Amino acid sequence: MGKVIKGKPVADSITMDLSKEVSLIKEKNIKPKLSIIRVGKNESDLAYERGIIKRCEGIGIEVEVKEYKGDINIEDFTMEINKVNEDDNTHGILIFRPLPKSLDENVVKYVIDPKKDMDCFSPLNVAKLMEGDETGFSPCTPEAVMEMLKYYNIDICGKNFVVVGRSMVVGKPVSMLLLKENATVTICHSKTKDLKEVTSKADVLVVGVGRPKFINSDYVKKGSVIIDVGINVDKEGNLCGDVDTEDCLKKAEIISKVPGGVGSVTTSVLAKHIIKACRNQNNI
Ligand code: NAP
Repeated sequence: MGKVIKGKPVADSITMDLSKEVSLIKEKNIKPKLSIIRVGKNESDLAYERGIIKRCEGIGIEVEVKEYKGDINIEDFTMEINKVNEDDNTHGILIFRPLPKSLDENVVKYVIDPKKDMDCFSPLNVAKLMEGDETGFSPCTPEAVMEMLKYYNIDICGKNFVVVGRSMVVGKPVSMLLLKENATVTICHSKTKDLKEVTSKADVLVVGVGRPKFINSDYVKKGSVIIDVGINVDKEGNLCGDVDTEDCLKKAEIISKVPGGVGSVTTSVLAKHIIKACRNQNNI
């Protein structure tokens, strides 16, 4: 039987380091600050927002929430983002996505200041991610996957990683981060032929498909590691991942928990980005 790994110790360890950094920054009379830009009141956005506020305020980062009605037009929305871009007291910006269709993300992504873009929305940060340039900001969830791997001493260099999912939120960016750490990466998606054949060769399987308990033990190599990025609601209304943990534990050595795995590290990575942005903007 394999074991389940949790995100909390990873998040706590990041948080502890950040709290010390914030104390040093505050000695210079600077208070790190995040602005959340939210359109509408989507329940999962609100839940994420509560998690962010709790994490950031616990570390000493100020959080301002700017809420807009779903009918805001693109000109006004752009103007609002520019105000935050220009506010010297705000170091990081997080725009909740997806935005309503009336706010074209292909326009908005060019408006957010790349220096304040905390979740890799700006094309400049996407390019830096591709280049492995650490001066940019990679998206928080894929970076949380990397933090999990590092905290639990899971080898990356030279290992066979199979990533299931190719979205810009999870699959593609996590593949780039793994590649930077010298993993051999295979990316799978809905058109992949014989998925089980591919995934069962993985030393480490990273799953972000958005389908409850989609990966069972038939997809898994004996002794492997599974990082489950999925967050879904099952038929009983409970949160579950993209992996059937109980079944996969028969073969896998390590599986990350859902809920309480990668998701709980994401807000700590966001806090890390805010501190990095604050340092950069103040030449600390
Ligand atoms: P998404 O945009 O819907 O992408 C899903 C990916 O899975 C796509 O690339 C899709 O392939 C692939 N896929 C779907 N069905 C498949 C199948 N039968 N076989 C192989 N591949 C298949 O989802 P996402 O935004 O990446 O999110 C993925 C999961 O991560 C969701 O459960 C989401 O809730 C979760 N998530 C968690 C966090 C966190 O903080 N922990 C953050 C973000 C997302 P195609 O490209 O071919 O369509």
